[in-house]
Amino acid sequence: MFNKILIANRGEIAVRIARACRQMGILAVAVYSDVDKEALHVRSSDEAYHIGPSPAAESYLRGDKIIQVALEAGCEAIHPGYGFLSENAAFARAVTDARLVWIGPPPEAIDLMGSKIDSKLLAQRLGVPTVPGYNGEDQSAERLTEEANRIGYPVLIKASAGGGGKGMRVVRDSASMAESVQAAQREALSAFGDAAVLLEKYLERPRHIEVQVLGDNFGKLVHLGERECSIQRRHQKVLEESPSPIVTPEMREQITTWALSLAKAAGYTNAGTVEFIYQDGQFYFLEMNTRLQVEHPVTEEATGIDLVTAQIRIAAGEALWFRQEDVRLDKHGIEVRLYAEDPEHEFLPSTGKIAHFSCPRGVRLDTGYTAGDWIPQYYDPQIAKLIVSGKDRTDAVNAIAFALGESKIEGPRTNLDFLRWLVSFPEFRAGNLSTNFIDEYYSPGALALAPAPVVIGAGALLALCWRKPPANQTGSPFQAGGWRQAGQAIMASPVVSGVEYRCVFSAQAGKPGCWQVSASHGADEVYTGQVSLSFGDLERRRARRVGGVLQLQLDGEAAEYVMPFLFTADGRDGVLDFGSQSFAFEQAPALSTERLNPAVHLKNEDTLESPMPGKVLKVLIAEGEQVEESQPLLIIEAMKMEFVVRAPHDGTVATIHYPEGSQVAVGDVLAEMKK
Ligand code: ADP
Repeated sequence: MFNKILIANRGEIAVRIARACRQMGILAVAVYSDVDKEALHVRSSDEAYHIGPSPAAESYLRGDKIIQVALEAGCEAIHPGYGFLSENAAFARAVTDARLVWIGPPPEAIDLMGSKIDSKLLAQRLGVPTVPGYNGEDQSAERLTEEANRIGYPVLIKASAGGGGKGMRVVRDSASMAESVQAAQREALSAFGDAAVLLEKYLERPRHIEVQVLGDNFGKLVHLGERECSIQRRHQKVLEESPSPIVTPEMREQITTWALSLAKAAGYTNAGTVEFIYQDGQFYFLEMNTRLQVEHPVTEEATGIDLVTAQIRIAAGEALWFRQEDVRLDKHGIEVRLYAEDPEHEFLPSTGKIAHFSCPRGVRLDTGYTAGDWIPQYYDPQIAKLIVSGKDRTDAVNAIAFALGESKIEGPRTNLDFLRWLVSFPEFRAGNLSTNFIDEYYSPGALALAPAPVVIGAGALLALCWRKPPANQTGSPFQAGGWRQAGQAIMASPVVSGVEYRCVFSAQAGKPGCWQVSASHGADEVYTGQVSLSFGDLERRRARRVGGVLQLQLDGEAAEYVMPFLFTADGRDGVLDFGSQSFAFEQAPALSTERLNPAVHLKNEDTLESPMPGKVLKVLIAEGEQVEESQPLLIIEAMKMEFVVRAPHDGTVATIHYPEGSQVAVGDVLAEMKK
């Protein structure tokens, strides 16, 4: 067995591999980029080496540097994880040329199966069904259009060297074919260095079902059953399970036989996945992934076989220690991927510091981050995976719903609420899945909204209750209305039970305690109209909390809502009772660069870089102006959110590079300061 392994990856998978090493008494060596200096994968390893700047191309994709580190650190093998260099045959060859062991399949198998065209040809030779399509050499727009007309629309154009759901386009008619072909080829060339595309009939409601295989270096190959990964957004998986709710023993026999024949023909060893799509009773081979998959834990839960330690044992030269008939899908495993992304805004990635992160005991948490860590903008926005198992699917679905309900994460926007919605949605519970599930059933408004009085009450407590009155006015800060100017609008962004709202309160002239209120969630209106509000007598409670009773009446309604509340004395969060229900609420994190990695927007002390691609919405200062530390300088609108770029220190604004309305890219220098 090895003494020391280098893990050429980051995030949860690097942490996961380091754990496997520890279990096996092997030393784990991490590599890291600038931004990952203190990342969890570094903290979880025995040794760690810096390999370059934050962009992946200059660090985690620098195969030469990684091999050099492995040699200098005295490692005997390299585990590539998934993504980055894991399916790079040239890197696998360079590793073996350096007399290190590659923990993965032979480079020839990566070459063959890494090409969607070549692997499809192999499948066709072996009689494994493939999606009707065209994967020929003639790449002219005329020929591809002709073939698309033959296949019938809609047609999917795929990059042969593509992956991760990238480089795919659906074309719905002949007229737009030529233009789409050219765009797809351009994209494929720039993203994957290979312009070749293939065509496939686009299936409208398929399911994604894949088979895990494992082979040793002595010709023995087994399968570990299937996983279903149909829940996807942008062709990327969000929730996976094993076994699939629709696969019968006969279907399993069929697809695993196909998977093993493909793996055998490719000379495959170590762990790999043969992917199929399924529609109307028919399976079609999609591609083979020649590496460990993100979703491997559901197979581990279902079979009890640890795939990462198995990979290491196989690479170290051990023969497979179990037979096919020993592999049983005894349990049902489910994994959900927790992403830093905004389901309300097309699942766009977000970044930021994790203020709090917890999940209940007994749930397997494969995470790349803990509370206090930053999620950098350079890599995949996956934070962690929650994995559960149960004796059957119902049991596992209940377990994951419980796990998600009890988990808490604060800081960046995440898909936690979306995942909660997903696992409680009736069609999901019934196992009626397809890769279009999210598009079909989910709309941002699908997340249950809190009742209007609760939203307004939480907004009022945050915005009106704790603000200090202006210096020339007297009165308690816990008094709404009295000292307000009529017409003055006050905004609040309460997060109630995890969903963010926006409330605007305008005081009404001559009517103390009466406000014009507009409350909304994204584009959805929660309430617009007049509201009378009073906070009653407030009592200080233990643990720096203030308690009281909020009375609230909506315009035109006879009933008055009486809602007891508890509120922290710093005015940031609390609990509001509405009937028999209690609603937790908190102030939404400020829309400012504090939510971003500070290393991202400061090249050096005086250079302010744009943290996001976006538009300069407002320039709040002029050149030559004196500013104080953390004074807002510019507002960038990015990913439909506003970011305030603040002064890093006291000083003078030397130059402003972009006027209002300019488009900026990540890293563009927005302004420069002088001390
Ligand atoms: P990648 O290598 O980028 O992951 P895949 O070929 O594995 O690409 O496909 C990823 C996803 O794209 C599938 O899970 C499925 O949702 C969708 N997809 C791929 N091919 C088709 C097709 N012919 N029809 C419909 N959806 C498809």
